Amino acid sequence: MPMNALPERFEGEALSIDLHMHSTASDGALSPEVLVEACAARGLTHMALTDHDTVAGVARASAAGKHHGVTVLPGTELSCQWRGHNIHVVGLLPSGVRGELSTGLEHQAEAREHRALQIAARMERLGLENALDRAREQADSDRPLGRPDFAKALVAAELVPDMATAFRRYLGNGKAGDIKAHWPVLSTVVGWVLDAGGVATLAHPLRYGLTRRKRGQLLDDFRAAGGQAAELVSGFQNADVTRDLARQLDERGLLASLGSDFHFPGGHLAPGSMTPVPRTAVAPVWTHPCLAAAFGRSVPAA
Ligand code: AMP
Ligand code: MN
Ligand code: MN
Ligand code: MN
Repeated sequence: MPMNALPERFEGEALSIDLHMHSTASDGALSPEVLVEACAARGLTHMALTDHDTVAGVARASAAGKHHGVTVLPGTELSCQWRGHNIHVVGLLPSGVRGELSTGLEHQAEAREHRALQIAARMERLGLENALDRAREQADSDRPLGRPDFAKALVAAELVPDMATAFRRYLGNGKAGDIKAHWPVLSTVVGWVLDAGGVATLAHPLRYGLTRRKRGQLLDDFRAAGGQAAELVSGFQNADVTRDLARQLDERGLLASLGSDFHFPGGHLAPGSMTPVPRTAVAPVWTHPCLAAAFGRSVPAA
């Protein structure tokens, strides 16, 4: 086996790979370079940069990866909607951005801009004056705005004590600032990823507040749209719940991905920190033929 080879199956061991992380290209705190350096320091050999609706940090992360000996897979976490829920699809993009994904990402940037205007209007009604300027100030860059920027602005204006409260009261699921109408539907973003020769991976299926049955329907629709994988482990999660999710993936022939969803240091998460994937019949996402070359694996002879 070559050095840094990834296993063909999950055997319950800790792995040096993290396929879901954010940088300053979206709502992460670390620059792409510092993020990759942190990954190297924590012993990761493989990573994907998956900023929200953009690949703007990928080139810098890849260059840093060459320097630090970390294999960096281009990626993005696409926002979409499914039956009234805001769902995230990670595109793992061994060939980068191609085809319909190019215009798709332009569309996402515009959607984010229009959404920010609408969120700002709603936050102003709730007492946050000049909401758009304040969110921009918190972002401290000209990248597209996200809900965390508005949450920080609410905290800075002392309208809420902390980010968690800002989301619970104003920006989280079903609240005034949770605006989904600008996002395309699930099948559209899956189509973009496939058109780019990528692997469409349903992000953190346990974090949408869905019942098991509803989650099964989401996985069915995702599979029917051409989705190939789902995150079996996202950060830290309960072992029984993971085994149950593995069953749902296995039933649908979906591959399993894993990631920390790291955003900033100082919290309970670090790059590569997550519950180990338990021994399971579900195959790792890197066994998908599209990812073989990117991860330095030879395609098995037919
Ligand atoms: P957006 O991409 O603009 O829809 O914002 C969603 C992002 O907000 C997520 O990716 C998280 O980074 C962040 N987020 C969601 N819920 C919370 C929360 N309760 N507390 C802090 N950040 C959150
Ligand atoms: Mn985020
Ligand atoms: Mn997400
Ligand atoms: Mn994420």
